[in-house]
Amino acid sequence: MEHARLTAAREAVRSAGLDALLVGPSADLRYLVGYDAHAMERLTLLVVPAAGDAWLLVPALEEAAAHASGAGELVEVRTWGETEDPVARVVAALQGDGPPGALAVGDRLFSVFTLALQEALPTTAFRPAGPVLRALRIRKDPAELAALRAVGAAIDAVHAQVPGLLRPGRTEAEVARDLGALILADHDEVAFIIVGSGPNGASPHHAVSDRVLAPGDAVVVDIGGVRDGYCSDMTRNYAVEYLPPGYAELHTVLEQAQDTAVQRVAPGVPAAEIDAAAREVISAAGYGERFIHRTGHGIGVDVHEHPYIVGSNPEPLAAGMAFSVEPGIYVPGRYGARIEDIVLVTEDGVERVNHRPRTVLLAG
Ligand code: ZN
Ligand code: ZN
Ligand code: ZN
Repeated sequence: MEHARLTAAREAVRSAGLDALLVGPSADLRYLVGYDAHAMERLTLLVVPAAGDAWLLVPALEEAAAHASGAGELVEVRTWGETEDPVARVVAALQGDGPPGALAVGDRLFSVFTLALQEALPTTAFRPAGPVLRALRIRKDPAELAALRAVGAAIDAVHAQVPGLLRPGRTEAEVARDLGALILADHDEVAFIIVGSGPNGASPHHAVSDRVLAPGDAVVVDIGGVRDGYCSDMTRNYAVEYLPPGYAELHTVLEQAQDTAVQRVAPGVPAAEIDAAAREVISAAGYGERFIHRTGHGIGVDVHEHPYIVGSNPEPLAAGMAFSVEPGIYVPGRYGARIEDIVLVTEDGVERVNHRPRTVLLAG
């Protein structure tokens, strides 16, 4: 992990007029110091002061884990014992000539810690860390881009095996168990598994159920995992033995929408235009009301992060950004379809990290 990220974080703390940034177990912590800590009732907290070196406070029993992560090579690791008050330790360390004027706390820090800090520092302003770290995390460095390509290839390889899993008579849950094992072959963890067969495919965040696959089912398979700290997220649509009526036409529209949106990606293009590009194709085909979510989300150390590819986001894309392009069409009671690839914004255009065919593949 790089000192560069901590240096950039300190710069962001300074330019935001903050005294310090406080980050608990989260993707932010992994991003800054490489430590994948448990979020729990015992406080683990990275302190990045505007002036001075960053340090990491961990429960004594987690000291070995913190060092094993490599975080100790980047920051001083301090420990607190079972009878100590860790919030009081942090508060004491943050006192200079008086209490700090303003602190940013990690978006995912448990409120029990934030509230205790606020109670101990009643005159200090508290702000969310998200906006402070946004500019760092939103543009990936070359190592992060390489990690996203590698995890993209890993999930491509899982999708290549999906047609063999979707046999009539099997349940979504049985397919998901197989998918979990396949994801773990080249990921460190499974992030999520969606197997939406038949009418279940019409609910974008349906997970899995005991529904039994039958010939003529369309099946939405959206899967992701984490490999070396970076996330994959990829959706393809399959049909068990044959396509249900109307599905081929719907899917052709979706393929055009997804490809149109991907081709529109380039530095300087507002995120909202990528969303509009997908939506126009789907609306022109009469499915506009069936596309019920944003077109995409940033991805990196979190599955969902900035930039969001949504009509309300005018932010221009920039080289180094990574996000999903995943339009969908959902027909309640019948089926759904979504095509999702992760793309990287390059200096002059776009690079896809997922390469499997985007057509409906027959399974069973
Ligand atoms: Zn989602
Ligand atoms: Zn997905
Ligand atoms: Zn996604």
